[in-house]
Amino acid sequence: VAAVDDLLSTAARIGEQVAAPAADAVDREARFPQNAITALREARLLGALVPPSLGGRGASIVELGAICETLGRHCASTAMIFAMHQTQVACLVRHGQRSPCVRDYLADLARHEWLIASATSEAGVGGDLRQSVCVLEQTGKQLRVTKQAPVISYGEEADDILLTARRASDSPPGDQVLVLLRRADTQLTRTAAWDALGMRGTCSHGFLLTASASCDQVLPAPFADIAYQTMVPISHALWASTWAGIAAGAVNRARAFVRAEARRNASIVPPCALRLAETVADLESLRATVREGIAAFSRIQDDPEALGQLAFALRMNNLKVTAARMAPEVTGRALAVCGISGYRNDSPYAIGRHLRDAHSAALMIANDRLYAANASLLLVCKDE
Ligand SMILES: Cc1cc2nc3c(=O)[nH]c(=O)nc-3n(C[C@H](O)[C@H](O)[C@H](O)COP(=O)(O)OP(=O)(O)OC[C@H]3O[C@@H](n4cnc5c(N)ncnc54)[C@H](O)[C@@H]3O)c2cc1C
Repeated sequence: VAAVDDLLSTAARIGEQVAAPAADAVDREARFPQNAITALREARLLGALVPPSLGGRGASIVELGAICETLGRHCASTAMIFAMHQTQVACLVRHGQRSPCVRDYLADLARHEWLIASATSEAGVGGDLRQSVCVLEQTGKQLRVTKQAPVISYGEEADDILLTARRASDSPPGDQVLVLLRRADTQLTRTAAWDALGMRGTCSHGFLLTASASCDQVLPAPFADIAYQTMVPISHALWASTWAGIAAGAVNRARAFVRAEARRNASIVPPCALRLAETVADLESLRATVREGIAAFSRIQDDPEALGQLAFALRMNNLKVTAARMAPEVTGRALAVCGISGYRNDSPYAIGRHLRDAHSAALMIANDRLYAANASLLLVCKDE
């Protein structure tokens, strides 16, 4: 318990003291939150998920979810970068340790606190995680790959990248592998700049990616298994935690606003306190949904058969779509509580950044894509 508290209280300190003061500038200038990521690195939080036997801290998904929420209260971009990075580390920890190359890499990651980006999206397949156009071209033990990546968050700042590709030139789009690309062997040519509504500090530019790798940088497990056992549930869990953090940050501003109103006239409860009470109740529902989703994953995380159940896939998709719907709703309610003080960008109660960041949730793997997947699952899933 002491170690858990330690990780979380360190993240809370970094959120408050480093991420929060820079959050408006990071958003305005669409710049990478360098100071916050450096502070997380110095606190050895980037390698937190790596097992202690490889020099990491053996953190759990419950702990990482709590950290994402805590960071998300202060700077959504910092929290989302942390969430995306930890999802990549989880794929390596849970599916790569049979490979000496990946084990050595994880030990180095824990030592140097490397940051890993993700290149799954691709021109031609949109947000369909389970299809790739690009292919690994093999010559002897060497591989080459070229991918038109519409979005790679912090691609230019990352130390390394995990990329999905078809296994070989005669593989169908769904026969994918996950390959660890070292930054020194990867060329990124910007094809689109990231000037977006929100999550501006994630620096999610589009790139033409070309890279070389050796065959042992391909994870031994098929990507199909990595996706349902790890990448999908953990990304949904940590993204949802981040979005809950954004909403909680907005609600904290609304609470501060209502307290200030109450101080101005101590004889009445300010009318906006009623809306605040409603908003806090909704925030608690969002947080409970996220906590319960993470607990559901944690209970079966080492049981591939249980992770492969259709009902579990349905549940993890529901976690994502529900959190992605509720986070902007709760944030919007916080705006309504603060009124014009929340709408202004120059006020201590400004909610604009939170609202813009929260609206990324529905399209980070489009909600409709997940509803469509669930529509098919519901046809065959037994009633609970
Ligand atoms: C902040 C942020 C950071 C990101 N970082 C990364 C990253 O680091 N690496 C990475 O690889 N990707 C990243 N992405 C990409 C992301 O995860 C999605 O892959 C991408 O946003 C989907 O793009 P799209 O909306 O064009 O595609 P699509 O998913 O193709 O959706 C296009 C449209 O079609 C609709 N649609 C799609 N499928 C269906 C269906 N079956 N039924 C009904 N409607 C459907 C959608 O609702 C949407 O309106 C990031 C996205 C965001 C917002």
